[in-house]
Amino acid sequence: MINLTLKVSTSGVCEPVIVRLNRDWGLRDSEHDVFLVSSEQGRHMFARPGIEIAVRDCDIEDLDGDVVLVSPESDVGHRLLRASSPHNTLLMTERCDQLCIMCSQPPKKTHLDFIQGLRTAILLAPPRAAIGISGGEPLLYKADLFGLLDLARSSRPDLTFHVLTNGQHFAADDVPFLRGLPSGLVTWGIPLYSAVATTHDVIVRKSGAFALLMQSMALLGRAGGAVELRSVVMRQNVADLPDLAKFVANNLPFAASWAIMQLEPAGFARGAWRDLFFDTSLEFTPLAEAISVAAIRGLDVQLFNFPLCAIPDGFRSFAVRSISDWKQKYLPECASCRLQRSCGGFFEWYVHQSGFAGIQPL
Ligand code: SF4
Repeated sequence: MINLTLKVSTSGVCEPVIVRLNRDWGLRDSEHDVFLVSSEQGRHMFARPGIEIAVRDCDIEDLDGDVVLVSPESDVGHRLLRASSPHNTLLMTERCDQLCIMCSQPPKKTHLDFIQGLRTAILLAPPRAAIGISGGEPLLYKADLFGLLDLARSSRPDLTFHVLTNGQHFAADDVPFLRGLPSGLVTWGIPLYSAVATTHDVIVRKSGAFALLMQSMALLGRAGGAVELRSVVMRQNVADLPDLAKFVANNLPFAASWAIMQLEPAGFARGAWRDLFFDTSLEFTPLAEAISVAAIRGLDVQLFNFPLCAIPDGFRSFAVRSISDWKQKYLPECASCRLQRSCGGFFEWYVHQSGFAGIQPL
């Protein structure tokens, strides 16, 4: 697993700062840039006038261009953006107004205002980075989120964003702002678990959520927003997927894509794994039907978090290597698999004893 924290020690740092680590002098020069001055025995010293930051026990090749939050009272640096990774996500808040039964990162009641840090990180981001923004629910802080997108539009038009939202908080007066965003700047990743309102509401544990979501979808459709629908497969909704495919094709034709996702064994899903997990390596029929319906209707369907051998041969082309590099692993069985390079593997915290029964090298 790739570590998202670094062992650091600092000198001249009096309050939390965000820095960009640079291997070479002079390529960049904002007040946040620090430059490598020495590198010995796994200890890399970065500096700029008045500040020194030593990073230990990591590969210098892997640090260049990283955007890191450093605090004087802590010996840990948080890698907000990794320049060498396509999987960068900024956390907007840990609050949420839903309580999804499978939530991999259960919400908290408190909110830590880090908006200035997020703005700085965006300005320092590697060129053409694709950045995820997640929570919690980012649109609980809509003004801050729209401010970030506005900042990117004006100062970093090379960046793109994927905002993961429960779709409960768009309003009619957001439409002009959304319409004004450049095409391709932002994709809204929005979970939808069933075409049956009560099933969706039970899964997200919020009465009336489906109805609010449909209102938001109508607004996004009017605004020309790019939407990626997301449906986690669980025992609770797997039989609904074929009807959900028809519902999406008939009612949400502007959705740019539909991601059907396997469960991440973290957060609430970890505790309720046996009640939630549906083993697609043993039974794929409802997914096959849903994918076929969606594909015929022209939807761009993708399978996230599925090991390739948990998918029948004819449907493997829909699989995406979606698990972020820092939390991905393979099993010993994978060593002899000829498809390992194209397989997304497993979450680092996947427990095989209670997982897919049909894993086998291809
Ligand atoms: S054996 Fe491993 S690498 Fe091969 S398809 Fe299955 S999970 Fe992927």
